[in-house]
Amino acid sequence: FDEMSLQTSYLANVGQLAAGIAHEIRNPLTTIKGFIQLMKPYLVEIEKEEYAKIALEEIERANTILYEFLNAAKPHVNAAKQVEVNRLVKEIAILFEGEAHLKNISICTKLAPENPSLFLEEHQLKQVLVNLVKNAFEAVPATGGEIGLNTEVRNELVLIRIEDNGCGMSDETVRRIFTPFYTTKATGTGLGLSVCNDIIHQLGGEIEIKSQPGVGTDLLIYLPKQSVLSN
Ligand code: ADP
Ligand code: MG
Repeated sequence: FDEMSLQTSYLANVGQLAAGIAHEIRNPLTTIKGFIQLMKPYLVEIEKEEYAKIALEEIERANTILYEFLNAAKPHVNAAKQVEVNRLVKEIAILFEGEAHLKNISICTKLAPENPSLFLEEHQLKQVLVNLVKNAFEAVPATGGEIGLNTEVRNELVLIRIEDNGCGMSDETVRRIFTPFYTTKATGTGLGLSVCNDIIHQLGGEIEIKSQPGVGTDLLIYLPKQSVLSN
């Protein structure tokens, strides 16, 4: 890729995503409008509460979609620097410690002894890892959930692996996983992985998924050691 084609395809992606966002936001708005129209004085208190609750949930949903989109599309000053991957992964593990404790999930980290660094914008890689760990949280069983966060150096590549012993995915899901708005969850946005994939591609890397229904998922991020620089 030269600079120009990278820029063009990125903008094309944002345009497509924006069209999808408009569509996705319309659904909760329609629901909210409907329930507000239903708010009539003759309703009993319990009905009003129920309608207000649904409207609030839909507002929350619209909010989440916008938030995830803005994070992906927001123009940023290039703040690339050398980032120690092990440190970032440890920070992510600490970030999720409280929630893991509450949900009885164990998070294990195995870190590369080489202590690799990558030249990139930390917040971008952090967003990817947060999205992936969230998915792992949502996939693991109510008891005995295990999530592994590992780093490895392989030749010219730095690998970050997120493993879980969760529900796993069908081949169909694996095929469609990077498609914006594809979700199998009742309240999912389907934006998490498409955003991750965009970011990792911008960094010159790849995401590989190994998953088995009922067994778990192993998500591998490959990033080139040299000249990883975001645009
Ligand atoms: P969302 O989490 O909002 O559904 P994502 O883009 O993050 O959207 O994920 C898309 C879909 O991929 C999920 O709905 C789920 O079916 C599947 N998926 C992602 N990560 C995992 C995982 N670790 N285990 C099982 N399924 C997963
Ligand atoms: Mg997700």
